[in-house]
Amino acid sequence: MTLNEIKQTATLLGMEPSRSLGQNFLFDQNLARWIVAQLEIAPGDHVVEIGPGLGSLTEHLVGVADSVTLIEKDDRIIDHLRARFASPTVEVIHGDAVTYDPRPLLGRGRLKIIGNLPYYVSTPIIARFADPLLAPAKLVFTLQRELAERLNARPRTKDYGAMTVCLGRRWAVQYLRTLPASVFYPEPKVESAIVALAPRARDAVPPCDDALFNRLVRGGFSERRKQLRKNLERVAPGPDWRALLHATGLPETVRAEELDLATWTRLARAADPSVAQLGEELFDVVDENDAVTGSLPRDEVHARDLRHRAIHVMLFNAAGEIFLQKRSIWKDRNPAQWDSATAGHVDAGESYEAAARREVREEIGVEIGALEPVCKLGSGAETGHEFLQIYRATHEGPFRFAPREVEGGWWFDVAHVRRWLAARPGDFTPIFRQAFPRVVGA
Ligand code: SAM
Repeated sequence: MTLNEIKQTATLLGMEPSRSLGQNFLFDQNLARWIVAQLEIAPGDHVVEIGPGLGSLTEHLVGVADSVTLIEKDDRIIDHLRARFASPTVEVIHGDAVTYDPRPLLGRGRLKIIGNLPYYVSTPIIARFADPLLAPAKLVFTLQRELAERLNARPRTKDYGAMTVCLGRRWAVQYLRTLPASVFYPEPKVESAIVALAPRARDAVPPCDDALFNRLVRGGFSERRKQLRKNLERVAPGPDWRALLHATGLPETVRAEELDLATWTRLARAADPSVAQLGEELFDVVDENDAVTGSLPRDEVHARDLRHRAIHVMLFNAAGEIFLQKRSIWKDRNPAQWDSATAGHVDAGESYEAAARREVREEIGVEIGALEPVCKLGSGAETGHEFLQIYRATHEGPFRFAPREVEGGWWFDVAHVRRWLAARPGDFTPIFRQAFPRVVGA
């Protein structure tokens, strides 16, 4: 949009740009095109624009992406956006991006997020949409320059902080370019910058307990001038931090800003007692009638495609919603796919039901009551040579997820999951694809 078009539209709508909504409208059309190009829109993409305003970026998205969701807080603009971009592929949501429930975005396509963000809420918006559960393929944001520099900072600089490290663990941040205030109407008081975020490949993210990692990083930076050890002793008392720093190869006088991402991860692993407990699992091996013939280590059972046993537990709440778990990116099988609330192997000497209760406890941290057996799937190649007992149970949550095993999970409307499964079966584990219709009906 040109400056004239922006001013005319604002006059037509009888509105003054709102400072409290962070309204600075972009009128450099080449720049708008360039920003949208950074999203690398491809067939199959569903693009979400945060804060479309009068449509400076939107006009380059609509008709290019397969479908578009616009999330705008200003009620003065909504009808205009709905009329200007009226199309079956465009949905305009009148709402606050900070508290927006992102679940409906799943199942619509490969997700990409864009926005010339309102600066007063950029940080919580980034936190909401750069979420491994949502897993957008790319995010492109215009931010206040200072924030962009913090996201992209190097260790031992003043900009390097908890946000740099926590976001950087899962997302590769690229500082693309600086923008002068003069490309916006009205001009903001600060410079801006464009950043792109892309998910880091799984090999670039060493496994650790993400919640513990974030706690340690936030605590470590809580008083920047203090030594890391003193901060950790205050915010996370208990472990012998002197010894843990030593085990991580760090001097005990080190400060938080001196640790790079890999070192923070090593420290979080050293501080995680459960890492040391990871032992070798033994599975019962069974014959074609599901009778036990012996027991062998997990890796051997999988490598030799031997028949063994597994369970899935589908959880429903009183509202009839189903809870889906997103498997962690580090799982050896079906990483980052959506699955039943709990899925797991039956250990040697264990019954199906005992395995189901144990897996629910270990993976999502709750005890369940009645377990209703729904069906048993056979042990062919399509089930990974597993006999699979599928259970149904009820629970209201909340859940506590096993670190490194589970990214997290959300409750979903059953009809939504049906549509999502039909549109994007590859988002789900092969077993879930088979079991879901058996549990909820085709
Ligand atoms: N995309 C437009 C452009 O480039 O010209 C507008 C960008 S302006 C910097 C930010 C936009 O975000 C405004 O339209 C504002 O009304 C909207 N906005 C402010 N707070 C919001 C929030 N919490 N959720 C969604 N939109 C918000």
